Order: sequence, then C-alpha cells, then structure tokens
Amino acid sequence: GEGKEELVTDYVSKNMNNMTVNMPYQCFINGKFIDADDGKTYDTINPADGSVIASVSSASVADVDKAVAAAKEAFENGEWRRMNARERGLLMYRLADLMEEHQEELATIESIDSGAVYTLALKTHIGMSVQTFRYFAGWCDKIQGATIPINQARPNHNLTFTKKEPIGVCAIIIPWNYPLMMLAWKSAACLAAGNTLVLKPAQVTPLTSLKFAELSAKAGFPKGVINILPGSGGLVGQHLSEHPDVRKVGFTGSTPTGKQIMKSAAANLKKVSLELGGKSPLIIFSDCELDRAVKMGMGAVYFNKGENCIAAGRLFVEESIHDEFVRKVVEEIKKMKIGDPLDRSTDHGPQNHKAHLEKLLQYCETGVKEGATLVYGGRQVRRPGFFMEPTVFTDVEDHMYIAQEESFGPVMVISKFKNGDVDGVLQRANATEYGLASGIFTKDINKALYISEKLEAGTVFINTYNKTDVAAPFGGFKLSGFGKDLGKLSPSLIYCLRVLINERITILNPIPLPP
Ligand code: NAD
Repeated sequence: GEGKEELVTDYVSKNMNNMTVNMPYQCFINGKFIDADDGKTYDTINPADGSVIASVSSASVADVDKAVAAAKEAFENGEWRRMNARERGLLMYRLADLMEEHQEELATIESIDSGAVYTLALKTHIGMSVQTFRYFAGWCDKIQGATIPINQARPNHNLTFTKKEPIGVCAIIIPWNYPLMMLAWKSAACLAAGNTLVLKPAQVTPLTSLKFAELSAKAGFPKGVINILPGSGGLVGQHLSEHPDVRKVGFTGSTPTGKQIMKSAAANLKKVSLELGGKSPLIIFSDCELDRAVKMGMGAVYFNKGENCIAAGRLFVEESIHDEFVRKVVEEIKKMKIGDPLDRSTDHGPQNHKAHLEKLLQYCETGVKEGATLVYGGRQVRRPGFFMEPTVFTDVEDHMYIAQEESFGPVMVISKFKNGDVDGVLQRANATEYGLASGIFTKDINKALYISEKLEAGTVFINTYNKTDVAAPFGGFKLSGFGKDLGKLSPSLIYCLRVLINERITILNPIPLPP
C-alpha cells in the first residue's frame, strides 16, 4: 500500500496539571496540520482567567473546499473505502484506546478551553467520548440490510434485498459546551458507517478537536477521512452547509442556527440532523424523596455550569413543598466551591466565554425586571475570568422571558403549581416550543408513567436526571430538532433514515427501599 507518512505536528506546549500539555493549533486537512489558506489565526481564551491559551488557525472558504475535496477523494477512492467493516471497527477501537491513554491531557485541554471542572471533564467530556467510540466501533460490522419476500410462489424470482451504504462526505458542526463529546457523538456513528467527515468545532473551543485529529492519525485513519477546521460559523459552517459535495450535515447548536443550516442544506437537498436548544421542564411533586429531588434538581440545572442542552430550564414545584425545596437548594448552593476548574475540589467553573457570561447577566436582569424573585445569585463572581454565581429565581410566571427562553447557564427558574394539579402542571410544562428533555420526581409510579406519556420531550427522566448513555438514543421534539444521536437508532447520521415517528425514551430510576 501507500507508504505511511510521518505526521508533522506543531504544538503549543504548556506545563499544567503536573504534565506537559501539547496542543496542535492548525487546520487538519487530508492527514496534515496546515495553516489556513490565507494565514489567518484567532486566539482561544481560558475562561478561568481571560488569558490567551493559543493562537489557532482560522479556516477560510478555500480550506473548506480543500477539506471537502480530501474527504470526497478518501470516500471515493481511498484505502478507507476498500477496508472491510471489521477493520473500520478496529481503527475506531484503537482510536478510543489512544483517547483513553491521553485522557488526562485531553481533560486538561478541555478544562482550560471550555471552563469545565477537570473532574467532570475527565469523567464526562472525555470519558463519554471514549465510550462513544467504543460503542460505535462495535456497530461497524453489524450494519445489515434485509431480504424482502415478494413472490412467495417462485422464491428465486424477484429476489429483493436491501443494502445499507454510507452517504459520503458528512459535515459536522458542533457547539462549545461539551466540545470533544459532541465531536464523538456525531463522528463515531458517521465513521462506523464508512462515511468521511469535515468537522467544524465551535470557534471558542477548538483545542480538543485538534488533539483528536492528531490521535486519529496516530490510530491509523487514512488521510482525508477525518478533517477538522477551526473557524467561524458564518464562514466555515455556512460554506460547509451549502457545499454541493457534502451529503449530510450533523448539527448540534442553537435553534436559530439550526434553521439557517436547514436552509443552506436545501441547495443540494442534503440530509440534516439537528440537535437544538431546549427549555426542559422538571416537575417535582410533594410525594418525592425531597433530598434526592434537591440534589438531582440542582444537577439538572448546575451540571457543567448550566451549559448543558438538557438542563432543566424550568422547575415546577408542588406548592406544599415549594418553600422547603427552595430553602434546601440555597443551603446546598452555599456549599458549592466556585474556582479554578483545574483544582480537583472545585464544583463550579467559569462560563465558557465572556459574551456568554454577559448574556447570562442580562438574562438575570430581565428576570428581575419582569418581577420574578431573585432568591440567590444573579451576579458575576468577583475574581478574574468569567464566573457566574449559581442563581435561583422563584415566583416565575409562565409568560415571562425567563420562563420561555433557554439560559444555557446556572440559573434555576422555579414556578409553583397547586397541590395535586397534575393536568395543570402538565399543560404548563408542555407550553414551550422546545421538546428536548424533561423530568419528574415522585414516588407514585402511576403518576410518573401517566406524565411521561404526555410530556412532549425526547427524554423523560424519572427520579433521576442527566443520565444519558451511549446505548440510548438522544434527541428532541419540536424546536429541539430531529434525528437522534447515540444508540442503535442513531443512524440518522449514517443513512437516510426517515424519522416518521417521535421516539421517546423514559429513564426510570427505582428508589432503593430503606434498609
Ligand atoms: P450556535 O448555534 O451559536 O453554534 C453552534 C455551531 O454552529 C458553532 O460551531 C458555530 O460556529 C456554528 N454556526 C454558527 N452560525 C452558523 C451558520 N450560519 N452556518 C453553519 N454553522 C454555523 O450554538 P452555541 O451557542 O455554540 O451552542 C449553544 C446551543 O447549543 C444551545 O442552544 C444548546 O441548547 C444547544 N445544544 C444542543 C444540544 C443537543 O443535543 N440538543 C447539545 C448541546 C448544545
């Protein structure tokens, strides 16, 4: 075969976390790290102190064309296409192993680039990325078609069978909240099916994607199969979505951008799957286990500093326990350690970037102006970087902006509902344009399942929250998008799977009986 060229990688090296962290910073096109065509760069910032981490190549339209051409060539004529499914699986397993070997370095990079606390970055951002590659590596040789009986009387006549084929070049466009994990959710399924890809990370969090590019080359992925272009959404993302040689766009991000991408994709009728925003309701009944509801309700809002697409955007708490619930939440917030995300004892890190922090402060101001009660927080933390206090609003009314719009930050938005008014609260919970996730806390299984049937949301968590798993499909209804990531049914990224029915996942967590 072709002699393997040695990968030449330039790095920004930093000593942190008691190790040397090496970060590639150029575009990764056709198996090589190269400067942007026009030589442009931009700075990526550490949100914990506002300092510059690295100057990264800013891809241009010419780079998009180069990367798509490389992906097309790799798809049509390269070694990748000649490989059998099992070999593809082996490559993916090898990549997962390499990611795991580098997990501390990846978690450190993720933490300084995105502000995720290191312990969470290691377990979730990186840990789940490794699991995702392993999960889909196992699918490579299990993607099968069917035989269809048409003429039963003469079985050899009109033998009909289906065969599943990769689509071709896929564009993947992802947000900044879980940079590597979003890359993994989209890319692993895409590669398992034999596609090639051009990925654009969010402009503000390019570093783990570039490190991933390096590891993919080390794992032995042929050139052109994986291409990574850091750069702006309006330029790189837009051009990818319009490109005639791109056959599919897998997108996670905001609803307005999702709509824009669908329009751009219409040019050549690309397939699209969209994982968009949310304003997920969490309903807490008085017959719940209160301490559990407090702990998990807080996780539902403050996990990853609220930069979590399935974050509970709105809590409905039954009147009789409302005040006690709020009191306990505030008590717990006061115990949270806010600070350096690399410090292992930190609970709450900085918001991802400055503009986002400013948007969140504005969001809280709006809440106050509208007449909601600011019980705790709402301010920037007085220290360098982009830290925000975990925040609690009560007395939130349905028409208010903060009841309708996603904050994507550590803001708990609480409304009361009348004791026993199950149908009333259901109606209010569904009165949002989004439909990503939802949650219920109650010990009454009948009530839980009744509500689970009626909530308009892709996932319903019962007595738990945030419990996504690589084996379970993930995705939303309504303005939260369509197509699924993860799980057996995730092939929306792989094939032209027509999603004709809404699919709901209910995740019920049994409450242990007292000893
Ligand atoms: P965003 O829509 O601003 O950006 C997402 C990506 O799209 C970025 O890479 C950006 O550069 C790119 N982009 C921007 N304009 C573009 C254009 N015109 N054409 C093509 N690409 C373009 O979203 P964000 O602020 O990065 O992320 C936050 C949003 O993502 C929130 O709404 C959140 O709920 C959502 N999100 C959803 C999920 C999910 O699975 N449903 C997961 C994580 C985040």
